[in-house]
Amino acid sequence: MTTRLYTHPVFLEHLTPPGHPERPDRLRAIERVLDDEAFSALDRVRAPEGDEATILYAHPEDFVARIRAAIPASGIVSIDADTSASPKSWQAAVTAIGAANAAIDDVFEGRAANVFVAARPPGHHAEKTTAMGFCLFNTAAIAARHAQKRHQAERVAIVDWDVHHGNGTQDIFWDDPSVLYCSTHQMPLYPGTGAKSETGVGNIVNAPLAPRTGSETFRDAFLSRVLPSIDAFAPDLIIISAGFDAHHRDPLAEINLTEDDFDWATGQLMERAGRHSGNRLVSLLEGGYDLQGLAFSVAAHVGRLMKG
Ligand SMILES: [Zn+2]
Repeated sequence: MTTRLYTHPVFLEHLTPPGHPERPDRLRAIERVLDDEAFSALDRVRAPEGDEATILYAHPEDFVARIRAAIPASGIVSIDADTSASPKSWQAAVTAIGAANAAIDDVFEGRAANVFVAARPPGHHAEKTTAMGFCLFNTAAIAARHAQKRHQAERVAIVDWDVHHGNGTQDIFWDDPSVLYCSTHQMPLYPGTGAKSETGVGNIVNAPLAPRTGSETFRDAFLSRVLPSIDAFAPDLIIISAGFDAHHRDPLAEINLTEDDFDWATGQLMERAGRHSGNRLVSLLEGGYDLQGLAFSVAAHVGRLMKG
């Protein structure tokens, strides 16, 4: 079994205003770096069409209808101050969900050792009833619920190392002890949530990092908070909300990680997936806005996933 990669051309057609950091070129940079011969063993699959009904796993119907109604026939519209939609945004968001759910099916049904989904828009800022922070729907949350509904997963761990706190994922699972949400993120920083004191029903583990800290602080947070929480929870599946904007080159934050840190963190989570989750691990792209930092980080992450 190999590592599977889901992509789809429609992910390039979710358009944001000129100068916006969350842009199609991010995926082009990832495609370019994974084109290298080192990744020839990747099992590249075109993302299937998503099932719109699964959006309701994480969001109420009236919210979904509101987003659908906001999609323009032409041009780009603002959903909030920094979140926008273009004519193909609905299809892109639903296909991102389709890819994530297919990745869950793959690891539960033995079609892949693990999976990386290179999709946009990202999802972890989308709350139950609020699209924000470049995100329309919370893809990771929907995928976690899909694992529970389709594959009878009892406990799902979502580990979010995007440099921004995943307020949306925390919101959706705030009172749900069947999902563990662990996040490392810069604080203070957008969206302002993610204090250590936010613990849900004991299922939320926030490990905020001070600006200008780097590898050592990040790895300490992982070793002292994230990994012990996973061990105590013993998940049936690990989902990574894989943002790469804690890279030192990233323009949106001030954490100084290198691609080696993403390699290391990936290895740690693979080890935990082996110990608790039958190796089931699915990684979903979130942020990462410096094209070189993003490409090198994804290469390190996917390279480690492929080592098995
Ligand atoms: Zn981010």
